[in-house]
Amino acid sequence: MNRTSWIVLLSGILFSLPLLGQNEDVDLTGVIDMHVHAGPDSRPRAMNDWEAVQMAEAAGLRGVLLKNHFTMTADRAALAAQLVPNLHVFGGIALNRAVGGINPEAVRQMAAFSGGRGKVVWLPTFDSQFFVTRAGTSDPFEPVMENGKPVDGLVDVFAIIAENDLVLAMGHSSPEEVLALIPVARAQGVESILITHVFGQDASREQIRQMAAAGAIMELDWLAAYSDPTVMDDYVEVIQLLGADSFIISSDFGQEGNPDHATGMRSFIAALRSREISQAQIDTMAKSNPAKLLGLD
Ligand SMILES: [Zn+2]
Repeated sequence: MNRTSWIVLLSGILFSLPLLGQNEDVDLTGVIDMHVHAGPDSRPRAMNDWEAVQMAEAAGLRGVLLKNHFTMTADRAALAAQLVPNLHVFGGIALNRAVGGINPEAVRQMAAFSGGRGKVVWLPTFDSQFFVTRAGTSDPFEPVMENGKPVDGLVDVFAIIAENDLVLAMGHSSPEEVLALIPVARAQGVESILITHVFGQDASREQIRQMAAAGAIMELDWLAAYSDPTVMDDYVEVIQLLGADSFIISSDFGQEGNPDHATGMRSFIAALRSREISQAQIDTMAKSNPAKLLGLD
């Protein structure tokens, strides 16, 4: 190595030392990660459910919500929970084609499963019309609206969500679909509405403002900011503009090659602190809002 590369290397190390220290400083007591991917899965994952919950408990997290795009996780959460007495473990179901799409019976059964771990119903994610159309593929998709109306079965899904105090998560629906469906869900008695990684769905500032005004909670995920640091600018702007009450933060980690979920949450919190988001705002987004959605407080 020549002299310049040594200087670059050393200044890199010196620059990252305080950041490492900052991350280790982050206390995860009370923090809940509502976006935890783990195997078994049909996509490559960094760890399985058992490993994920044990790492999360060891790191001091309060709770995790296991998410799978293709199969429900209420049963897996109930099993994994038995390993970790000091961690709340929840699951849910994503209404992609693998479970029959907008399938009220799949939601009904999930809610009835022993253990009571099923808490979130995601509208279609990878099989959503918005996702498939935006990707420009010819894959089949599962629409949530047709001719401006909710598809068959969706109103029943909303009613089952309401009956069982579940969280309606919007999956990979478009911002327009989200805004059209919020009042339909409310009319069925749905109280908790979570907008899955709102920036990943290309919502405009105005649409985000409308979602907040409609009482929805919006998810800001670390995966997006980890992959593209400029995303933090968007996050900080909307938190300061609309208040932390309208947001949760989650990792969305679990992909093969990425760090574990607790490491993701720690980095996210450190990044928010470095951008002058207060500890009170962080606590709202990482602790109290997720706890409220999951019925923990
Ligand atoms: Zn995800």
